[in-house]
Amino acid sequence: MLKFLSKLFSRRTSSRRPDAAVDFQTLAEGNNDVIFRCGKDGIVNYVSPSIRLFGWVPEEVLGQGPAMFILPEDLPAVLAVLEKHKAGVESTRISFRLRRKDGTPVWLEASARTVADAVCGSGDVVVVLRDVEERKQLEERLCRLAMTDGLTGLANRRAFDEALESEWLRVRRTKGRLSLLLIDLDHFKGFNDHYGHQVGDDCLRAVASAIQEALQRPADLAARYGGEEIAVILPNTDLAGAVAVAVSVRSAVEALCIPHVVTGAGAEKVTISVGVATALSAVGASIQMPAGLLRAADTALYKAKNNGRNRVETALVLSGDISTSSSEASTG
Ligand code: GH3
Ligand code: MG
Ligand code: MG
Repeated sequence: MLKFLSKLFSRRTSSRRPDAAVDFQTLAEGNNDVIFRCGKDGIVNYVSPSIRLFGWVPEEVLGQGPAMFILPEDLPAVLAVLEKHKAGVESTRISFRLRRKDGTPVWLEASARTVADAVCGSGDVVVVLRDVEERKQLEERLCRLAMTDGLTGLANRRAFDEALESEWLRVRRTKGRLSLLLIDLDHFKGFNDHYGHQVGDDCLRAVASAIQEALQRPADLAARYGGEEIAVILPNTDLAGAVAVAVSVRSAVEALCIPHVVTGAGAEKVTISVGVATALSAVGASIQMPAGLLRAADTALYKAKNNGRNRVETALVLSGDISTSSSEASTG
């Protein structure tokens, strides 16, 4: 469509026919897309009537710059595209959110092309806008799906890895602290063997939602770390706070009272062991992060298993401001 419009312009330029603008308008107005023409300063000198789809009437938009109808967050990117056209780039593509007249945003995809035409104004930019709201929503749904564990509905390992990495970057910036819980179901192999894998899956789902419900802060992130292991990232939480969360998570699972006749510990219900680790950014320390935090939580979990299961054990990690060396400052 855009190529056709620009071809039309260049053909008309050579023949200098005065009806080129009329042709452009006819084309633009017989189309379902919204078509703008603006100077390289972004001031609109033509908009097709289909702008009404977004609540605006053309007269309100004519003579206005992009700040009027583009969301402030997306405006810098749109202005950068206009700069490209000023610098001689002929065609660009960009997605941004347009503000409907009622204030609600809508995702649009814009194809822009510089047109040189005596009738339409040399160097104007013609922009074809397409509503991609549905596609964006689909992309967001797919993105959420790609980050969610299918069995438990918790975040998956990929989402966990990304969240841990970005939380650690935040700790480095703010010199704060970050805690991690590593949770493992006790004697779960025996549970599966006795009750069957399907019941095992149901049990995992129930445990996952009990853990999720026991978390108090919106920033806390529970993720399925592996088969029957769940990890919880607790941003901005010290060791005492993390232990308190671990204790309530452990009792929430015990309170489910899911029968388990083969615990080996006489508890006769499904339980979890929890390893808690807290990382502090400290001058002089040099542990590699966030891998060091995971190792420490794993060590604490191992201790909880060795000390009889259905319990919480802890580890502390001191980490410097760098993420390249590998010796652990302290765990215990
Ligand atoms: P421990 O108390 O030492 O953790 O003993 P365990 O039997 O839980 O530990 P182990 O790591 O030996 O076994 C984990 C078991 O978890 C193996 C597998 O049967 C079960 N499991 C892992 N993922 C799933 C899953 O998605 N569904 C079900 N039903 N079982 C799973
Ligand atoms: Mg395990
Ligand atoms: Mg286990």
